[in-house]
Amino acid sequence: MADRETTLLDVRDLHVEFRTRDGVAKAVNGVSYRVAAGETLAVLGESGSGKSVTAQAVMGILDSPPGRITGGEVLFRGKDLLAMGAETRRRLRGAKLAMIFQDALSSLNPVMTVGAQLAEMFEVHQSMARKDARARAVRLMERVRIPAAKQRVNDYPHQFSGGMRQRIMIAMALALEPELIIADEPTTALDVTVQAQVMDLLAELQREYNMGLILITHDLGVVADVADKIAVMYAGRIVETSPVHELYRAPAHPYTRGLLDSIPRLDRKGRELYAIKGLPPSLTAVPSGCPFHPRCPRAQDVCRTDRPPLHTVGPGRTSACHFWEETLRDD
Ligand code: SF4
Repeated sequence: MADRETTLLDVRDLHVEFRTRDGVAKAVNGVSYRVAAGETLAVLGESGSGKSVTAQAVMGILDSPPGRITGGEVLFRGKDLLAMGAETRRRLRGAKLAMIFQDALSSLNPVMTVGAQLAEMFEVHQSMARKDARARAVRLMERVRIPAAKQRVNDYPHQFSGGMRQRIMIAMALALEPELIIADEPTTALDVTVQAQVMDLLAELQREYNMGLILITHDLGVVADVADKIAVMYAGRIVETSPVHELYRAPAHPYTRGLLDSIPRLDRKGRELYAIKGLPPSLTAVPSGCPFHPRCPRAQDVCRTDRPPLHTVGPGRTSACHFWEETLRDD
């Protein structure tokens, strides 16, 4: 777990709003989390939960306008990124903080060979000579296990399979040996076998480079083996945080329980898969009280009127549920 000595990233009470035709959408509403060097935090949530917007705010790539950070701090090694000038932040990106996106094809330049794109990182950021930068690009492609890297360095992004393109994205992110990588749904577009290989590679490199890793996903199934801890988001808020194994063993929030019961698990063979009823709320019309109450099988009257605070429910564990004790005891 992150402590003050080793904390790389410390997001404190972050608020982000979007102006939409239907009014102000509070996309991120008081989110706090920490990541230490060598630690993997999975941020889990459905689309519209605020998980990606939080990451964009951290990286300084929020579409602005319409997105606007209205409060909070984002401390990277103790310095507030939100108080830095645009140029300082741009320099930090790539060198200290890097991001991997879901869609490698639209993130890579289609008219440049992958070798040229990788080499450009070294030429621009480290003033390396072209020949040396090329050699580094090949080594990096080998490191992310692209077969025949020496030949393929001259290929264009569309000539690679989805899985190989995602490896190139990982290579781009790793190029300058950043201290923190944010991976936003890095394997969602891939088939299941390739997903596992790419996720294993990412976890292996994260350990080797002792980086902090934030893994943003809607899929609880992909994080069990790679994350140290999880923050579950719903309607712009964190509703549960926990070390990963404790959360799998006994979730402390009914939303997490619903997510867990909706993935196939070997230890629950024979049980019917569950689907959380309904849809996440619009962020311009978040329900009163607990935002999850219209979908929650455990909801009581108090849930419709009183917003639950984040209760401490164990070491490194919090839950924003009035009935977290009962939820923990469920099986
Ligand atoms: Fe469900 Fe109530 Fe807990 Fe919200 S506070 S998750 S509605 S039981």
